[in-house]
Amino acid sequence: MIQFEALGLSPAILKSIAALGYETPTPIQEKAIPSLLEGRDLMGLAQTGTGKTAAFGLPLVQKLSEDRSRPAPRSTRALILAPTRELANQIADNLRSYVKRTQMRVAIVVGGASMRNQIRELERGVDILVATPGRLLDHIESKTANITTAKFLVLDEADQMLDLGFIHALRTIAKMVGTPRQTMLFSATMPKQIEALSRTFLTDPVRVEATPAGSTAERVNQSVHFVQQAGKAAVLTEMLKRDEKNLSLVFSRTKHGAEKLLKHLLAAGLTATSIHGNKSQGQRERAIRQFRSGEVRVLVATDVAARGIDIPGVSHVYNFDLPQVAESYVHRIGRTARAGASGEAISLCAPDENNLLRSIERLTNIPMERLNAPGGRPQGRSSGAEFEPVEMGARRGNGRGDAPRGGNGNGGRRNGPHQGAPRHEGQGESRRGGGNRNGSGARFGSPDAAAPAAKTGEKRQGKQFAHRASAPAGAPGDKRQNRRPGRRAAGF
Ligand code: AMP
Repeated sequence: MIQFEALGLSPAILKSIAALGYETPTPIQEKAIPSLLEGRDLMGLAQTGTGKTAAFGLPLVQKLSEDRSRPAPRSTRALILAPTRELANQIADNLRSYVKRTQMRVAIVVGGASMRNQIRELERGVDILVATPGRLLDHIESKTANITTAKFLVLDEADQMLDLGFIHALRTIAKMVGTPRQTMLFSATMPKQIEALSRTFLTDPVRVEATPAGSTAERVNQSVHFVQQAGKAAVLTEMLKRDEKNLSLVFSRTKHGAEKLLKHLLAAGLTATSIHGNKSQGQRERAIRQFRSGEVRVLVATDVAARGIDIPGVSHVYNFDLPQVAESYVHRIGRTARAGASGEAISLCAPDENNLLRSIERLTNIPMERLNAPGGRPQGRSSGAEFEPVEMGARRGNGRGDAPRGGNGNGGRRNGPHQGAPRHEGQGESRRGGGNRNGSGARFGSPDAAAPAAKTGEKRQGKQFAHRASAPAGAPGDKRQNRRPGRRAAGF
């Protein structure tokens, strides 16, 4: 097994690694670190949980400490862009632990936090700036941050930044960063726009792949319970009550739905909290802290709010609503089974979510185990096999090969009432004044909406890569309808 010592890291960095308790490099660290130390650009297909922060962070810190120059006032020597405040915080925390033995300064610039404190942080100049794109542009406009001096650029969770409407912001920022520079781009999936972005901003990159999009799913026991929408809260409560010691992350599609569900769980006597776009930064940080420490055992979250959160002890992920985009499912269940452990992912599927379930199974290539929950009713136009009311926990075969697919007999083409235009959360940060850069305020009709639909999944070299577009373009559930070139103005 390769050791960190073999990767070309300096003694000082090796000490930091030992202090962190990392014994051996993760696959992406093994692949990425030597090339990054050589100064190569890098394109990493990897999700959170693979050790990618250290994969780019350790060589970055080493290279910055080799070049002993000091940052000029208000400027940075390296820039890391991340989609959400939570992820930016997590990255900054990791980097602070890597620079402990150095004089280097790490600063963070994210929406929803005091501009004035950030200006003060930036004033003296920083070695590494971790930022969400919108707030960074605010600082650049008001000349409180200068990124033209940066010699290193990291785009983390690029696909998520794309989803949140940051593509223009990314292009603008990437053009401002100084050249020559070393650029690293990480993405869990590789939609066409990210490929295009990488062709524009990376020079002859090394490509590394930690785990293909579907593979987290292989370490997670996945099951689905067929239940009517109205019965979901009661079924979930019963499941959560079976073992209140579990640390369970529950995904709701909307902020409103998350809050309603939280009230139900609290009324049932469970210890629970929530994070979503209507919560203040302070509330979100408190919720994550309470969940991480185990003080509360259930965290109800929306996709955007939970993106990238690294909480090692999560044993169960519940999909109270199935996600509109199949790739989100892979991200959701990746919150459990961290660091090689196994985990449980349990989905509650209402009759009108059957086609979403099929998209997910096509993407992961792993049929979910069918379990029926109480309250299930024969359903739809088919024989209703998916909705037979059986005792909770009764297993109905392992779903591999013999599981009924498309039980409602609609062939997956119908868009049920549940799949009207999804209510999306805003981007991973708030913006002063709540305006948007384009000044349009319109959410629909982006040029992207007319893009041809891509297939849900594609096999390349025997491995599964994920495409972002799992719904036909222009379909009611198509996330791309809500995308527009600029940044959204919502107050997430
Ligand atoms: P990341 O994918 O960067 O979010 O990292 C996921 C988790 O793995 C974090 O909690 C890291 O502290 C941890 N981690 C990263 N590299 C290693 C390693 N080589 N050995 C053990 N844990 C690691």
